[in-house]
Amino acid sequence: MREPFHFEGVDVEPGTQARVPLSIGLDPLGRELVIPVHILHGKKDGPILTITSTIHGDELNGVTIIRHLLYGRDLKPETSDDLVRAENLRGTLLIVPVCNPEAVILDTRRSSDGRDLNRCFPGSPHGTHSARIAHTLFERVVMRGSFLIDLHTAPARRTNAPHIRANCDRNDSKELARAFGTPIVLHSIGPEGSLRRTATGLGIHSILLEAGTANVFEQGAIAVGVQGIMNVLIHLGMIDGNIRKPEWRLIVRKSRWVRSPRGGMLHPAIVAGELVEKGQAIAYITNPLSGDAEAILSPMSGVAVGLATSPIVREGDPVANIASVMKKKTHQKIRAAPMTEWTIRDVAETLEDISDDEDGYCIDDAPED
Ligand SMILES: [Zn+2]
Repeated sequence: MREPFHFEGVDVEPGTQARVPLSIGLDPLGRELVIPVHILHGKKDGPILTITSTIHGDELNGVTIIRHLLYGRDLKPETSDDLVRAENLRGTLLIVPVCNPEAVILDTRRSSDGRDLNRCFPGSPHGTHSARIAHTLFERVVMRGSFLIDLHTAPARRTNAPHIRANCDRNDSKELARAFGTPIVLHSIGPEGSLRRTATGLGIHSILLEAGTANVFEQGAIAVGVQGIMNVLIHLGMIDGNIRKPEWRLIVRKSRWVRSPRGGMLHPAIVAGELVEKGQAIAYITNPLSGDAEAILSPMSGVAVGLATSPIVREGDPVANIASVMKKKTHQKIRAAPMTEWTIRDVAETLEDISDDEDGYCIDDAPED
């Protein structure tokens, strides 16, 4: 028989799940600040995977991705459509839907002390408020696992086509990124102090999902997130099922932000996830008080993984993040199968009967230039 999972004084028995509060001290009114951690302790042995969301308080898609993952389309626990159950699980899931509770309440990216929590890892028990949250999350939760999926969206006023970011120089992180199954994987080591970079540096195989925008629940982004996590669980042997692969898949090592050459009103000419050619107009900047208009041309060929959504721009504001795709052959494959939108309804089928496509569909990790 498997041992119970000990967490913050609670014993979670094999084949059961629990929601355990992790204390991060007192708020200014003396109320206890807690981060609830969902623990699903499988009946059988297997890896420990941590899933984190809302390290940035306004990036909410992760909260509902986790809700769908645990409770299915009706969003209610203990019903027949729940996608993941402790009794069928091999290994242990540590899930933190709300890593930064005060930032969620304030509807802001930054913590209540004004700091970016995702630059504070691994944190310190003697540091700032954000450093202490980071320390608690990192030591008590993330360090218990071998794998990490961190859920994010673009900041307010921008959107991201769903894609995974991972340090693809690390084979295990790269495999995890591939398994998740977004068409685009961006290779990056991540900013200093970010959870993903810090965890990867300590040998925890980590990937980050960027999907959609802040302050909104978006069905397409949610479906990609739920499906991707299911794919990873299957890949790690934690649940049974067939991995749903994208029509094509590309690991991109070079991306670049195109910035506005002037202030004005932004009219995007493309959508997030679209393939653009070098020299193609990606947006127009107009002056609302005159007839002035200027096209912003893409300096390179690639997929627009990020896009500004706010009409008002200043000189130097980011307009589009282009992930470099140089090969014409790759362009043809992408054009033949534009990024497919998965739906939540599709996800449950993963557990049933999807043929496991051969690798031939994927144009993985093709060296560019
Ligand atoms: Zn974020």
